[in-house]
Amino acid sequence: MCAATCRLETPQHLFLHCRFPWAVWSCIVHWWHVKWVCPSSVGALIAWWFGNRFRNLEKEIWESCLYATLWSLWLLQNDCVFFYVSLGCGGLNQNKGGHVDEDEARHQVIFGGRL
Ligand SMILES: [Zn+2]
Repeated sequence: MCAATCRLETPQHLFLHCRFPWAVWSCIVHWWHVKWVCPSSVGALIAWWFGNRFRNLEKEIWESCLYATLWSLWLLQNDCVFFYVSLGCGGLNQNKGGHVDEDEARHQVIFGGRL
């Protein structure tokens, strides 16, 4: 079940298209100065991720980001479902321009919403 209030359960929604995971992926590609269009599926995300332009150590770190992010999103979803951890306000706060707070997204992924 989605950690936000959407109540959708598809892999695409849980790992990509829901507001929170979408914000997390958007932050990551922004940090790496990569332009993207959100893929239609997790498989498409993985294929796109491994089709990157990075080499050597950057490539290893980039690829590790994929695994770490998918794993973190999975743990966060489980915390929300089984331990009632809340993402607050149904997800992430947005500023007046509609942009998601990157610090909050980073905190949610790293700490799973726990303080
Ligand atoms: Zn959702």
